[in-house]
Amino acid sequence: MEGMCFTKKEDLQFALQGWSIINNVEYVIVASNRQKFTVVCAQSGRSDRPCIWRLHAGVSKRLGGIWKISSMKNQHTCATPILTTGHRQCNSQFISYFILPSIRRHMDLKPREIIGQIEAKFNIKVSYMKAWDARRKAVKIVFGSWEESYRTINLFMDAIVFSMPETVYKIQTSENHRFERLFFSFGPSIKGWSYCRPVLCLDCTFLLGKYRGTLLTAVGFDANNGLYPLALAIVES
Ligand SMILES: [Zn+2]
Repeated sequence: MEGMCFTKKEDLQFALQGWSIINNVEYVIVASNRQKFTVVCAQSGRSDRPCIWRLHAGVSKRLGGIWKISSMKNQHTCATPILTTGHRQCNSQFISYFILPSIRRHMDLKPREIIGQIEAKFNIKVSYMKAWDARRKAVKIVFGSWEESYRTINLFMDAIVFSMPETVYKIQTSENHRFERLFFSFGPSIKGWSYCRPVLCLDCTFLLGKYRGTLLTAVGFDANNGLYPLALAIVES
């Protein structure tokens, strides 16, 4: 409704998409930039009985740069049959926002489960590809992208060294600065190792992310027979 405020444009879009899906109406975007966002009913161009619903939102300088719905003119007069196969606004971006709480709880949320969630809530069947794409976008919102994570890995390791000064790490890159390998051992692990049994177990596991690789581990045993992680490395497969 008019006067509603949102911290970010994405929040406004998510609310509007959800509202449109639940009310079984669709819209098209007429203007969208950093300052304003205007949509009209998808049935506005109908020659026989156009629906003249329209909504305008913009950044409010007076309210410190938040997004505000400044006008919502008229009611939807379009009579759309109940859509069960798709909805213009039920795109992968909307779904990614919708599943954010689930993704935060368990990252391995399956596309099939996403399809089930959308069908249970909105009675809309989305394709496997769309669910998969929504999952990728949600993971990116929560954890950042794979590319960005690899690109900033030295900053991340420096931050760890800053908080645990005894930590050691080494990143190996190719000539064109492409990530190849990472070795690291946390300061407290190095310190505690002298109190462990003099046995070191080496193991590895495959990484299942976008960029494959292998995680190597060196693990000891403490006096209680508990596993004691000493050092880790990420290497190529
Ligand atoms: Zn309408």
